[in-house]
Amino acid sequence: MNNNILLNFRPRKKLGQNFLTDRNIVFKILKEANITEQDLILEIGAGKGILTKGIIEKAGRVVVVEIDKILCLYLKNYLPITDKVKIIQTDFLKFNLDTVNCENPLKFKIIANLPYYITTPIILKLLKQRVWEEALLMVQKEVAQRILSSPGVKDYGRLSIIVGYYCDVKFISYVPPEVFSPRPVVSSAIIKLILRKKPLVYVKNEIFFFALVKVAFSKRRKTLINNLVTFHNLSLKKEMLCTILSRLNISSDIRGEKLSIEQFARLSNILVDFFPNYGLNTG
Ligand code: SAM
Repeated sequence: MNNNILLNFRPRKKLGQNFLTDRNIVFKILKEANITEQDLILEIGAGKGILTKGIIEKAGRVVVVEIDKILCLYLKNYLPITDKVKIIQTDFLKFNLDTVNCENPLKFKIIANLPYYITTPIILKLLKQRVWEEALLMVQKEVAQRILSSPGVKDYGRLSIIVGYYCDVKFISYVPPEVFSPRPVVSSAIIKLILRKKPLVYVKNEIFFFALVKVAFSKRRKTLINNLVTFHNLSLKKEMLCTILSRLNISSDIRGEKLSIEQFARLSNILVDFFPNYGLNTG
């Protein structure tokens, strides 16, 4: 019966269907997730359930979100479904995390071997709906490097800052393409995001802060000031920016990629006082 469901199944590249086949990696992920009866696990993109089975054995509650109809049907037949397991067929980007409803004393954790084509949108969504505590994610190696990067390093950018602002990030390990079927062209990495109780630094206006970071990295070869003068509708003047940077002991010819999250926050907190209503009309 189970095999029949997948009889004519062909993995779809456009859905990032590279399934894990190596039991050692599965054990590693489950071990790193440290799943107990006190955990509610949300798995994004369960595929053929290679991780899900182990998750169900250990967790108190399990919610699975998988976009593929056939795979959902297969999972419902193949997995030991009880009251504590829910399989939802939907696009995770349209899924409201608030509906997961994590009652005390369960700890809301996320586990996912993410589909490559929407890794960053999924991570940004998780950072917007911060109702979870930990996320153990398999992502492309390059995305992991961007997230884990520090100021002055090539990969450092918006993603490093947004993730670092909300989460403590741990690198777990690199994973070669051979452990997937079909084999992806890229290598992967496992990382753990632990949501901070409060963001890394104090920011007066997050909408302004993230807009500032975006502009600062808009042209990586330009200096921070030359990028900031293009800040949409704000008409920031070079002289004023030079004065503010010097107050912060930052050189006026610095590039955005050299600024730490703390420095971006301090700059943002000074600049936003000139635009107190910034972002107020944004939903
Ligand atoms: N967890 C399985 C494993 O490790 O073998 C499958 C991982 S595979 C890289 C990604 C899975 O995400 C696929 O099963 C795919 O169908 C599913 N997926 C792709 N886009 C999705 C979306 N927007 N929402 C939910 N699931 C999605």
